[in-house]
Parts: sequence; C-alpha cells; structure tokens
Amino acid sequence: MGLSPQETSAEPDNARQSDWFDFATLLGGAPVKAILSQRNSDYQEISVDRYRKGLASQQGLPFESIAIPQQVHGNKVQLAIPGRIHKDTDGLLTIDPHAILSLQVADCAPVFFYHQPTGFRGLVHAGWRGLASGILTVTAGLLQAQDVDLCQTKVVIGPTIEMACFEVGAEVTELFSPTIWQPNSSGRFQLDLVAAVRDQLIEAGIPGARINSVDICTRCDSRCHSYRRDGELAGRMVAFFYVDSEIEE
Ligand SMILES: [Zn+2]
Repeated sequence: MGLSPQETSAEPDNARQSDWFDFATLLGGAPVKAILSQRNSDYQEISVDRYRKGLASQQGLPFESIAIPQQVHGNKVQLAIPGRIHKDTDGLLTIDPHAILSLQVADCAPVFFYHQPTGFRGLVHAGWRGLASGILTVTAGLLQAQDVDLCQTKVVIGPTIEMACFEVGAEVTELFSPTIWQPNSSGRFQLDLVAAVRDQLIEAGIPGARINSVDICTRCDSRCHSYRRDGELAGRMVAFFYVDSEIEE
C-alpha cells in the first residue's frame, strides 16, 4: 500500500543475509532444521521483531507459522501456537509439523529438544535465572505429560557463554551446586552454565549420552552476539526450529 519500488525490494526488513549455525546433525540427522543466526551488524539498526521477520523471510519461513516467546528469564514453558507471541514464556514445545519454534539469545543457552519417534520438538531459553527456577525440569515434565519418552529424547545445547568467561557473584553461586563453579582471583566466581544445563537435564531424566553441547563460547567466538562482551548494545541471535519439508520428502 503506497510503497515506492525501493521499499518493495527483495530484501525485506533491512537485515542483510545472515550466516547460520545448524545443529540438525547433532539431533541425529532427523528431518528438522535447528538453526541459530550468526552475528549480524544490522541488528542494532532495527528492532528485534523486524530483525526476526527479516531472518525468517531469508529462510523462506512463513511468519504466520512462527511461535515467539516473550522471554523473561523465568520457567514458563508452553505448547506453541503458530503465529502467537507467548507472554512471559521462556520455552516452547510442539508436535505440530507446521509450527516453527523461535527464540532469541546472547550468552544464555538455547536448548533444542527432539523426540524423533513422535516428532516432538522443544526450544528453551536457559540462563542462570531460568535454570535456578528449574526451567529444564519443567520442560522435561511437560514432555513426559505428553507421553514423550525422555530416554529417547535428544538435546543440543547451542552456543553459550562458557565458564572461563562467565563471572558471577556469590548470590548466583548459592543457587547452584558447588561442583559447577569456582572462586576466581578477584574474589568472585566462574560459573559453568553448560554444566548447569547438562546436570538439570540428566536429573530430569534425559540420558547424558543423548545430550550434545556445541562448545562454542558466545563471548569468545566473533560469530556470536554476547551480552557480556557487548553490554547493552549487544545484538541477539535468533533460533528457529522446524520440520524441513524438503528433507522429509
Ligand atoms: Zn569465552
């Protein structure tokens, strides 16, 4: 409506082409795409909503099928409704092959769940606050309530700030087992967020052998956005998790 020819160009919403991490092979080569956008300097110039829309468009994903959690570092996990913005939600689950799960992160762990026998998928935002409130325990409980066998559920822990780069105070360490943090030379502590994720998954019933972490530190790896490295100006990486109909056929 009233758009000039320039504004209807093939590159919607201003975001330049992004490179992507793809974790599908770690989920057993299943007919799914589990992707996370790499660092993109355009991010700061547009809102995350427009950025996500541009990225979806570049991947040929119908925006009306994307379920978006409005993340608050809490422990609420919901069944995804395509096209819905899920308020106060940090994780989404679905068995609907047409639903596209999404998430945004910059240091916190994006955690992908996949149960191939049923096609159940999950995508959960796990930082220290969410872990302290048991978000992965909640996720596992919801999967079980949907008759998903946790023993057959595969999990990928995406790029996350790693222990050497993640300094926290005593108020954080007291929420976690002493096995996953150490004091540092400045009187504070280094927390192993990946171990915290892994421990909570195993405690909840996911076999350790089915959990893969990609071992990419968001603060060290220039392909990642990092809140700890870039502060308030940090961009966000956007994850999408969906059934790839081209692979399926
Ligand atoms: Zn690092």
